[in-house]
Amino acid sequence: MGIYSDLINSNFHCPCMREHNVYIKEIDLNFDFKHIGNVCNKYFINKKIAVLADKNTRVIQADEIVVHLRKDGFEVDLLVLNDEEVIPDEKIVGTILMRIGRDISGIVAVGSGTINDLARFIASRIHIPYISVPTAPSMDGYASVVSPLILNNKKITFPAISPFAIIGDINIIGNAPLEMIQAGFGDIIGKKTAISDWILSAKLNNEYYCDYTSKIVQKATKLCIENVDKIYNRNPKGIKYLMDALILSGVSISMIGYSRPASGAEHLIAHYLEIKYLKEGKNSILHGTSVALGTLLVSMLYEYVLQSKEFLKVGNSEKIVESLTPYLPKPMEVKEWLQKIGLSIYPKDYGISFDLLKETLLNARLIRDRFTILSYAEELNILEAATTSILTGLY
Ligand SMILES: [Zn+2]
Ligand SMILES: [Zn+2]
Repeated sequence: MGIYSDLINSNFHCPCMREHNVYIKEIDLNFDFKHIGNVCNKYFINKKIAVLADKNTRVIQADEIVVHLRKDGFEVDLLVLNDEEVIPDEKIVGTILMRIGRDISGIVAVGSGTINDLARFIASRIHIPYISVPTAPSMDGYASVVSPLILNNKKITFPAISPFAIIGDINIIGNAPLEMIQAGFGDIIGKKTAISDWILSAKLNNEYYCDYTSKIVQKATKLCIENVDKIYNRNPKGIKYLMDALILSGVSISMIGYSRPASGAEHLIAHYLEIKYLKEGKNSILHGTSVALGTLLVSMLYEYVLQSKEFLKVGNSEKIVESLTPYLPKPMEVKEWLQKIGLSIYPKDYGISFDLLKETLLNARLIRDRFTILSYAEELNILEAATTSILTGLY
């Protein structure tokens, strides 16, 4: 269990003066699935259970899991979501609820983002535990306690529960399509700007800051960046660093109780784009991939703001720069990370027009009440000038 052992299933008083709780009881990414029955026996009160998968993850892993479980005497309801792209909306939630057995005692979710978001929500609403079996290192929601779902065409984050156990096979996870690996890496480099925004707000607004939680995210992020080549080449060690970072990022969110350690201006940009695509009925770019692009834009925005005369006039500007320096990535560094993972640094290669990105940079701060470099640039009255300068360099 390694790096997780101190954290999981724990509650402790932190030097930040708050108590942190982590409810996940077990994490094992080298799990031997012959023994999945033992894990289910531990957390589920009877042998009637549901396995949730989509048509890809069914073939990749769910069918095999069902065989092992049935051998161990479980009565398994295999629910496969057969849509080409599963949209986690009210229709699919209703479908699962109508198809699920009446007295099942637990759900095993085999898949990545959407499958886990659905399982976490449904398990929380019918008051049963769930076990997560990740199949791709594509996003940081495995350890999450919330479910982003779509209701009336709007993305809404619902409170839910975290999994009792996260068990995976690192070889299967590393075999995920490259675009999912790239997205996971993108979500992780976004932590660099997320932490920078948290520190910025702590310095400027006295916002609560937990150094312990922040360090957990920083350490995991650093390992991924140092091993980007191994991640790109699907070396099992590299994939393990990436999965560890994605899980720890989710754990950090549950420790604080909200997503501050894992989500800053880069996520506002990504969410703005996601909502826009959803409204227009277009296929969205993978979440982590838009976060990767957001991270580049935010690093450029930081560079612009910290060198502006408006900022340098601020009384404690030197101190702010000093506190940000260890965490804040330089645009050149972010470009290098993107290139090493095989992603373009140009927004047009993702199909994002100049006008849409301009609109995004100018308005993303409004979708959520969270202080970031976007709101600070607006406060200094330089957001528009910064946007023009950044975009001219990218188109
Ligand atoms: Zn703390
Ligand atoms: Zn994210």
